[in-house]
Amino acid sequence: MQRFQYYIDGEFLDGEARYPSVDPATGLIWAEMPEARESDVDRAVNAAETALYDGPWAKTTATQRGKLLYKLADLVAANAQKLAELETRDTGKIIRETSAQIAYVADYYRYYAGLADKIEGSYLPIDKPDMDVWLRREPIGVVAMMVPWNSQLFLSAVKIGPALAAGCTMVVKASEDGPAPLLEFARLVHEAGFPAGVVNIITGFGSSCGAALGRHPKVAHIAFTGGPETARHVVRNSAENLASTSLELGGKSPFIVFADADLESAANAQVAGIFAATGQSCVAGSRLIVERSVKDAFLSILKRKAEAIRIGSPLEMATEVGPLATKRQQDHVAALVEKSVRSGARLVTGGQRPDGEGYYFPPTILDCDAVASPSLAEEFFGPVLSVVSFDTEAEALKLANDTRYGLASGVFTQNLTRAHRLMKGIRAGVVWVNTYRAVSPIAPFGGFGLSGQGREGGLAAALDYTRTKTIWLRTSDDPIPDPFVMR
Ligand code: NAD
Repeated sequence: MQRFQYYIDGEFLDGEARYPSVDPATGLIWAEMPEARESDVDRAVNAAETALYDGPWAKTTATQRGKLLYKLADLVAANAQKLAELETRDTGKIIRETSAQIAYVADYYRYYAGLADKIEGSYLPIDKPDMDVWLRREPIGVVAMMVPWNSQLFLSAVKIGPALAAGCTMVVKASEDGPAPLLEFARLVHEAGFPAGVVNIITGFGSSCGAALGRHPKVAHIAFTGGPETARHVVRNSAENLASTSLELGGKSPFIVFADADLESAANAQVAGIFAATGQSCVAGSRLIVERSVKDAFLSILKRKAEAIRIGSPLEMATEVGPLATKRQQDHVAALVEKSVRSGARLVTGGQRPDGEGYYFPPTILDCDAVASPSLAEEFFGPVLSVVSFDTEAEALKLANDTRYGLASGVFTQNLTRAHRLMKGIRAGVVWVNTYRAVSPIAPFGGFGLSGQGREGGLAAALDYTRTKTIWLRTSDDPIPDPFVMR
């Protein structure tokens, strides 16, 4: 059985407590993880604070920070296959996807490596003749990062990259489910040569380790990705340390198909949008909103594609849908499908969990036309698509915005002016037109409403890990006049 360690203050440690990690493809324990408790969290945050203000990191120039990040990027690229296999083993995410995604994670680190020495302060044209005033941009402080089980290397890269570029130090809490790739990534951080305490990587349970990290008095900012309910706990806890928060949460993203769209291409995008990553994707296009005149045609293409998907071992390159990450997740998906069918939704395909080992669930399509199905409102985080139809553009937009989430959306049409109207009208942080699930380190990403606040990716994300300091310098040699008049 493999044993993993956590990484605190430049050291790899077993931790006092350990817990088993289950391979979702078999349901069997395959590894042992270190469980960080409150005292470990305290140690990690203290190490991060010492590194921030007193260690060599405090004297590392922005250009040197960039060079370290480039080195880290190269190490991620060189170890992508190993990391991918670990992620696949520990989370069930298919190897086809993890290997491509982790190779791309290296580009996120490269993007922020290049940004490190481009984060500039400014000089203010102040309204007083004998003053020079600047804004310095400084690291925001010790950052607490929490990520969910899906895509841990990717979801941490969009936090660690900009935070390091900005000069912060951090404690990263891997999800208790599937932490292996992130714990292994710590070895690359070490090898890249970041000073001890700059990046600490731990794992543990949310209510103990996560909560202790989020409310730690020395944490200045919390970068959280996960569900909205957990985000509420995080925000409540941040009332203790008054840390700022950025929240990347769930979604119930609309995928709108107009009759004039290229249906074959839209169907491929819809398959990518809902069945890739076995649906365990925050941007899953989980609500298909299709023009009534092409609904049957589109559903028959989708059904054919869904039923042709190769379900199997996530470690096989040919597999297209693997298991869900946990038994809990499989139970949740099965229960919500059942509840939706009871409410009147019609199963177009899938819907039954298969017999046998592992936490599998087949690609599933629910026709929810004229039904108040819970599947239209609640996030599955699984391979389940809910379908409704519309007659007019206004109706399509109303359905798209009929959610408290607002993470992503897709619009498929050949009509340019309509595409523009929808881009403006949809209330979501990302609108993809005639494409879906495209991401880049250059493009900001984040949600509206219950999908969160703050943006990851792009230049602004690095600025979010800074705080400004205003410097006033009096340039006159004359004595300060009347002390009772504010100048
Ligand atoms: P979760 O909210 O249960 O857990 C996320 C992380 O928070 C885990 O590391 C967990 O241990 C930790 N945590 C739990 N309780 C905590 C607490 N009280 N204080 C601090 N940390 C705590 O999420 P999950 O079930 O692991 O992941 C699925 C959710 O993540 C879905 O809603 C999905 O949409 C969302 N997600 C969002 C994005 C995005 O970028 N918007 C990306 C991926 C996943």
